[in-house]
Amino acid sequence: MTGARKPPIDPLTGPTAILEGRIVTMNAADTVIASGRVYIKAGTLAAVQSADAPPPAGFSGVSVTRTHGTLYPGLIELHNHLSYNALRLWAVPKKFSNRDQWGGIAEYRQRVSGPMTIIGETPELLPALVRYVEAKCLVAGVTTSQGIALFSNAGVRRFYRGIIRNVEATDEAALPEATTRIADVDMQSASKFLERLKKESCFLLHLSEGVDETARKHFQALQIGGDHWAITPQLTGIHAAGLKAADWDIYGARGAAAVWSPLSNLLLYGDTAQIAAAKAANVRLGLGSDWSPSGSKNLLGELKVAKLWSDHHRIFTALELVAMVTRTAASILGWNAVLGSLEPGKRADISVVDGVDGDPYDHLLTAKEADMALVVINGVPRFGTPALFSALNVSGETVKIGSASRRLFLTQDTQDPQVGKISLSHAAEALQAALKKLPALAKQLEKPKALMRGPLRAAAPVWRLALDEIVDTGVSVRPRLPLAHRHTGARALAGAGTLPLSKIVRPLILDPLSVAGDAEFLPSIRAQRNLPPWLAEELVNLY
Ligand SMILES: [Zn+2]
Repeated sequence: MTGARKPPIDPLTGPTAILEGRIVTMNAADTVIASGRVYIKAGTLAAVQSADAPPPAGFSGVSVTRTHGTLYPGLIELHNHLSYNALRLWAVPKKFSNRDQWGGIAEYRQRVSGPMTIIGETPELLPALVRYVEAKCLVAGVTTSQGIALFSNAGVRRFYRGIIRNVEATDEAALPEATTRIADVDMQSASKFLERLKKESCFLLHLSEGVDETARKHFQALQIGGDHWAITPQLTGIHAAGLKAADWDIYGARGAAAVWSPLSNLLLYGDTAQIAAAKAANVRLGLGSDWSPSGSKNLLGELKVAKLWSDHHRIFTALELVAMVTRTAASILGWNAVLGSLEPGKRADISVVDGVDGDPYDHLLTAKEADMALVVINGVPRFGTPALFSALNVSGETVKIGSASRRLFLTQDTQDPQVGKISLSHAAEALQAALKKLPALAKQLEKPKALMRGPLRAAAPVWRLALDEIVDTGVSVRPRLPLAHRHTGARALAGAGTLPLSKIVRPLILDPLSVAGDAEFLPSIRAQRNLPPWLAEELVNLY
C-alpha cells in the first residue's frame, strides 16, 4: 500500500506559540498543571510546564496567549462514518436486537441509505460533504477521526484529505495507518482472518453489533478451535455489544481493544455493550459517536452519554472516560509515542475548554459546545474564539455555535484541492440545496448515462463515496466469518430495494453543525423510543 514515500499529510511545520491555561496532560502520572504553559514549535510541543518556569530556548520574544481555559490533548474519535453526518437523527421506529434487522427496512432506505446513495454518486457534492462533516468534528474539539473513503470507476480507492487527522491516511511512519475494511477473501475462515490481523497495526472492524445471540455469533466465529482465537492486540472491535462477560474475558486476555458507541447502541437496541465486563477484562477502550443518523452529533456529545451511563452503573472515573478519547485511543492506534497526551516532543494537537475551575476531567465531560475555546491540530489553530484567533494572529471564516461567534481556519497545503476551494458556509449551502432536491437528483441518476461517453470522460476517473455499508465495493466494514459453515450476518446491501430511489426519497434538512444550533436535536432525543427515559432526561440537562 505504501509505494513511493509521500510527504506526511501533517508536516512538521507551523507557527511558534505559547498557550497558557490549566493543563490536563494525560501523561502516565496523570499530571495536571494548575497554571501551565505549552510551548509549540513546528507542530511539536517543545515544553509543557508550570507558567512560572523559564521558557525553553527559542521562545524569548514569543508572546503568551492566555486561554483562560483547560488544555487537553486533541480528542481522538475511533469510530465515525463521517460521510453520513449531513443527515439528521433518525427517529428509530422500533427496538432492534441486531444490525441485520434494520439495514434493509424501507424506512431506513428512505431516510438514510437512499439519500446517502444519491449524495455519494454526485461527485460535485463530495468536497462540500468533506468540508461540512469535518467542521462538525472540529467544533467539538475532535482532532482525529475515521476518514471518508472514495472509490473510482477505475477501481481505485482513496481517502479524502481534509483538516483533521484521519486514522486510515497519514503518510507518516510515526502514525501507522489503521485498516478499517476487510476484503471478502480474508473472511473465509477465522485462521485466514488471524493471518490478516497479524499484518496490521490496528484493525478497526465492526463486531457483534446488537445485543442478541445473532450478534454474539460474530464474536464466536473468531474461535479457531479450543482456546485458539483470531483475536490479537491489533483487533479493535467496534460496538461489541453482543459480547457476554465471559466473552470479554476471552477478548481481553488476548489484548484486543474495543470502541464503545453507547448512544447509537441505545437508540437502536435499547442497550449497549457490557462495558463493566470489558473494563474488568482490561480491554483497552476507545469511544466513537458512530454517525449522526443514530448517534451523537459529535464526540463531545458521546462523552456525555458515556459519562451518564458510567455514573448510573458506577463503572468509570472521569479520568478513565477522558483517556478513552486521548491516550488510550492513541495507544489503540499505535500513535501513543506522538499523540494522546500533552508531553514534550509530542505533536501539538490540543483542545481547550473555557474555564479552569472544578474537577479537570469532569470539566471536559460536562463542557457545552460553546465552551470549546480553541482547537489546534499539528500546531495550527483550526477553530477558536475570535479573541484567541486574533491573539494567535490567525484569521478565518466565522461560524456560529448557537449564539456564540467562532472562527475556523481551513487552509492546508496538503488537503484535497477540491476541498481546499470551498468554505464551510458554501459547503453547507450546497449540501442543503442538494438535500432539498433529493428526488430530482435521484431521477437524474436513474437516467441512462448518455453523458458518460467521449474520450475526455473516459480519461478522468469519476469518484464516488465508497459506502461499503450499503453498496458492494468488494470490501466490508465488518468481518462475517463462518460459524458452523454459515456466514455470520448477511452482506447487508441496504441500498437494495425494488422501487427506484426517486420514488421513495423526500427532501431533507441538513443536520446542523452543533447541538447548540439545532432546535430539534434535544426534542428528538427525548422522543426516541429505545433510549432509557432517565438517560434522555439527564442528557438534555447536560446541554
Ligand atoms: Zn459503525
